[in-house]
Amino acid sequence: MSLPFTSFNDVRPEVAAFESYEPGLSIAEIAEKYGLSRVVKMASNENPLGVSDSVRRALERNAGEAFRYPQSGNPRLVKALAAFYGVDAGRIFVGNGSDEVIDLLFRVRAVPGVHNAVVFRPCFGLYPTQARMAGVELRQAPLRADFSFDFEGLLKLVDENTTLVIVTSPDNPSGRVASVDDLEALARALPPACLLVVDEAYIEFAGPEYSLLSRLDSLPNVALMRTFSKVYALAGLRIGYAILPPAIADYMWRVRLPFSLNILAEEAALAALADADFRERSVELVRRGRVRLTEGLRALGCEVIPGLSNFLMFRLPEGSMSVKTLHEELLKRGVIIRALGGYHLPEWLRVSVGTDEENELFLRLVREILGA
Ligand SMILES: *Cc1c(COP(=O)(O)O)cnc(C)c1O
Repeated sequence: MSLPFTSFNDVRPEVAAFESYEPGLSIAEIAEKYGLSRVVKMASNENPLGVSDSVRRALERNAGEAFRYPQSGNPRLVKALAAFYGVDAGRIFVGNGSDEVIDLLFRVRAVPGVHNAVVFRPCFGLYPTQARMAGVELRQAPLRADFSFDFEGLLKLVDENTTLVIVTSPDNPSGRVASVDDLEALARALPPACLLVVDEAYIEFAGPEYSLLSRLDSLPNVALMRTFSKVYALAGLRIGYAILPPAIADYMWRVRLPFSLNILAEEAALAALADADFRERSVELVRRGRVRLTEGLRALGCEVIPGLSNFLMFRLPEGSMSVKTLHEELLKRGVIIRALGGYHLPEWLRVSVGTDEENELFLRLVREILGA
């Protein structure tokens, strides 16, 4: 195949197919636009507790190190994660957010134009964009109508050229979790060349009993991906990691940009990992808020998907008002949530669990806007 470039403005066809990124309004821009003194963001599944004291101290303590290059390979963080999970350090990979881990998984595990990857639809937006950028065919099996996982349907898309399957559990945006038995059955049903990656970005909010972690030793073709962005409240510092088959971890390290995890992010991650109290408080707050938001939204006639994450997916009572109207009316009152049009779910919204006070504010405003 020959694709001659005729201009210095030509780019790879995969690149040409990308649309330009349209960032939403920032908190400051929304405050300005609607004349608000306070804006509450419940749109990006961030930790409502904010930066922990231990992380703040670690950042302050290490600010003077910012002129140095990080230690390539991040051996201290790798060691800490290996000890935390009781796995061999040779299985740990850390990157600049799960975003980088996902990007590298496609590029390391799939030959462009030959191999394919399989995920569900809808799915986290990074899977399709990074598959495209890698030139890898992405096959998508629809979730069931209630957003539960149809593993049979997924397996039908898998063939001898499938080298990567990614399942998100708890899922985003539904919050649904897969049972460990179903995940194990899926891993065992995949062809030998296929790696199953379970994206466990939100697993701490569901509980360890939903993770394949304890079964990894008997499932050599399974990898787990996690992040410091959610339960550890470090979304802005960009730290993701994975527990991989050792050979794949080794190759991921070889090709990763040497300093992709910056020196302050690494210190913050070490401090956060050691802070069990903050982690437990985060999980407790989210579990309590999830129950409260579910009850509150259902009392207003909304349909809420029973999720085990730090957000809930819901839709308004039939015939009440459009998603766009509710979304805008909330914005005017200083609360940002996520309308799921970008996930091709135009009837659905997603709200991140906030502090107790933020959850009450959100429910009060929805009640007011619906006129219920
Ligand atoms: C938030 C999220 C992540 C974490 O991404 P980072 O790049 O680590 O911030 C990973 N997967 C899913 C599905 C998510 O929603």
